[in-house]
Amino acid sequence: MIFTDGQLTQETNRLYDKLKHTHWSREDAALIAPMTLEIATLKKEQNAIILAHSYQTPDIMYGVADFLGDSYMLSKIASEHPAEKIIFCSVHFMGETAKILSPEKVVLVPAVAGCSLAESITVEDVRKLRKQHPDAGVVCYVNTSAAVKAESDVCCTSANVVNVIDAMPQDEVIFIPDKLMGQNVQKLTKKKLILWHGTCIVHEMFTVDTIKEIRMQHPGVKILAHTECNSSVVDAVDMAGSTSDMLRYIASSDADEIMLVTECGITDRVKTEFENKHIVGACSLCPYMKKIMLRDILVALKNPRPDQIIEIPEDIRLKAKQSLDRMLDIVPKNK
Ligand code: SF4
Repeated sequence: MIFTDGQLTQETNRLYDKLKHTHWSREDAALIAPMTLEIATLKKEQNAIILAHSYQTPDIMYGVADFLGDSYMLSKIASEHPAEKIIFCSVHFMGETAKILSPEKVVLVPAVAGCSLAESITVEDVRKLRKQHPDAGVVCYVNTSAAVKAESDVCCTSANVVNVIDAMPQDEVIFIPDKLMGQNVQKLTKKKLILWHGTCIVHEMFTVDTIKEIRMQHPGVKILAHTECNSSVVDAVDMAGSTSDMLRYIASSDADEIMLVTECGITDRVKTEFENKHIVGACSLCPYMKKIMLRDILVALKNPRPDQIIEIPEDIRLKAKQSLDRMLDIVPKNK
């Protein structure tokens, strides 16, 4: 597509206005402007929307996305929005969750990207766990494949995991696949949890030593961690929760200095959306989430590759949806 100099300058200014809070320069903004304009044009022509998980890169979050957020919230938006096509910039299981809720829509994930948590467990593993613990219910974290959701009794998110587990009728609950989140939840519930060995490779690497060091260097700092971190980290921070919980906390906190013990995309969001906050400490990059580039979104819009199109066999989709529906029966719709 050809754009006029005026259109390109206007787009460069729009992009730079957002991206300047991160590591992007005006030259970077000018380089991507033709692509973001083309994506915007195709999106409109095709009645498509672009959803970006908060761990995506700033050019995607602020250059082309219509909605930003965490996986389940974005899947809900996809199902309620009148768009016919959903470009979900995230990892495969998140695209599947959107497809479970929106079977009539075309759902595309621009790059083939897994997730260490979702890939740690298979349907056969869940069946074996059920055989070993016949009296236990099965709760799966949303970071699982559609097939594993279909094998579980109820799904949960990091924001509602404790409510869901507490509401299970059994005294024993198999919680899959996140071992570290399970250990954190075990401290908050009377249920006996049976855990799987999955971990998030991004959150498992944080240690309590880094947190102690940052507290010494920045006495007034507020430190927030994702509940996918290990329990010694969670115990040492000011707030542990989901990405949405962290953003809500920052919005209502008067602390000037914040440390985010999570993926770097959240740091980019805070720098862009809370200009008065100063981020200290280091974040960590998710190699799966960072696989998507603007050119992959263009391919998905122009001529999608088979691996970009999310398909789920209908019997699995229906069973996986039941596990999501049961979650909504237990917790308020906005959690
Ligand atoms: S941050 Fe962790 S849980 Fe999220 S996609 Fe990456 S590996 Fe999976």
